[in-house]
Amino acid sequence: MNHCLECNNKLSGRSDKKFCSNYCRATFHNRKSALDFKEIKTINKILKKNRQLLYDKMNSEKLEFTLKEMEEKGFNFHYLTSYCEIKSDLFCKFCYEIGYLPIGKNRFKIKLKN
Ligand SMILES: [Zn+2]
Repeated sequence: MNHCLECNNKLSGRSDKKFCSNYCRATFHNRKSALDFKEIKTINKILKKNRQLLYDKMNSEKLEFTLKEMEEKGFNFHYLTSYCEIKSDLFCKFCYEIGYLPIGKNRFKIKLKN
């Protein structure tokens, strides 16, 4: 016997039924959408901040930065939108159209997407 995914009541009828009522189905999906939205919003916020920090750096006319310097400003190196391999084991990581390329130990250079 299956149980409703929302209220855990026992389900009767078709064996592929997941919810006991339209109300439970809607409540379940609404909550899931809200959670999805929250997760997307959180990651978008990180990406937006990373992108702004890269532009701030570029606008200061210094195209190079260190890992520590950017981390202190709140840059999150775990999030990026794409990357490309420049040569074997050398990757340019992008946050939308602006990215950075390693040029030494914990040192990077800003690079705009072509
Ligand atoms: Zn239910």
